[in-house]
Amino acid sequence: MNTMQGAIIHGGQRQVELKEFPVPEPGPGQVLLRMKAAGMCGSDLHNIYRTMNLDDPGHYQGCIAGHEPCGTVEAVGPNCKRDFNKGDRVIVYHICGCGHCYACRKGWIVNCTSDERSVYGWHRDGAYADFMLAEEYTLLGLPEELSFVDGAIISCGFGTSFQGVRRADVSGYDTVLVVGLGPVGLAAAIISKARGAKVIGVDISPERVATAEQHGCDLGLLAGDDTLDKIKDFTNGHGVEVSLECSASQPGRMLSLDAARLWGRVVFLGEHGNLSFNPSFTVIQKQLTLHGSWMSGISEMEDTIEHIVRWKIRPEEIVTHTFPITQVREAFEMSDAGEAGKVVFKWD
Ligand SMILES: [Zn+2]
Ligand SMILES: [Zn+2]
Repeated sequence: MNTMQGAIIHGGQRQVELKEFPVPEPGPGQVLLRMKAAGMCGSDLHNIYRTMNLDDPGHYQGCIAGHEPCGTVEAVGPNCKRDFNKGDRVIVYHICGCGHCYACRKGWIVNCTSDERSVYGWHRDGAYADFMLAEEYTLLGLPEELSFVDGAIISCGFGTSFQGVRRADVSGYDTVLVVGLGPVGLAAAIISKARGAKVIGVDISPERVATAEQHGCDLGLLAGDDTLDKIKDFTNGHGVEVSLECSASQPGRMLSLDAARLWGRVVFLGEHGNLSFNPSFTVIQKQLTLHGSWMSGISEMEDTIEHIVRWKIRPEEIVTHTFPITQVREAFEMSDAGEAGKVVFKWD
């Protein structure tokens, strides 16, 4: 029997364990992938490794973790329809749906309402293993111009950022404020620049501000009492046309609303926590449009890939640390200590 290594997280206990598993066989409509790169997402750390809410029916089910896979086709199961062949390079849309509900019919599998909905690395075996079983319909081609690491980062991070930027219809007409410069915020800044906008980035970490400036942010600001004044100064007193809120903090969310100019557009991407404000002064009288944007649909992810290639963006440039899967424990410990930015596991 062929075996492989796969990583299980002991949820809420800050422990991750590498175990041996049989290499799975693809069933009908399934494809076996040889893993080449797998991104670590903030949600692996925050919602599984550190704390796990067992009351949430969508919580991690103890399977092989990792939901940012990228690799090559190793074997194709029966009844597959899309002409994938061994060695083909693929990106994985990280959620499986029922295929029948309203959201699935729209291609917004993330919003599938069926009990059948499952996320790779949460409810079914995912990316932190040498091989992974994927449903054929969740696969998208990885273009020549992109590396496997690029592909891994698109699947959750860049796809989410791209969709947020698109919701606000960002263009060269806009100055865009990105609040929170973690992987999703940094990607949103890079994509907004590619669409021709001027970009202001704000974070509480000086390292993240410096990184955003290296990636082309026109103005990087360390969050403080004078942040709003500095944004107003930069925009001739008007404020920004677009705010992309990626911090998930109360002050960050308020800044994204307060910095938006008359008729501005604000997109909330950062999840969890609460927010309290006076809608009259904050939103209504400023004629703001407020969007919530949660990940991406599968055809939107295909658009992300096409445009990233067209704009010559390389997502792998935001990676700060690369590990082999045999060092999964070290990778999680380093991220948990806040010493890493975007972490990726890589296979030869
Ligand atoms: Zn994720
Ligand atoms: Zn569905």
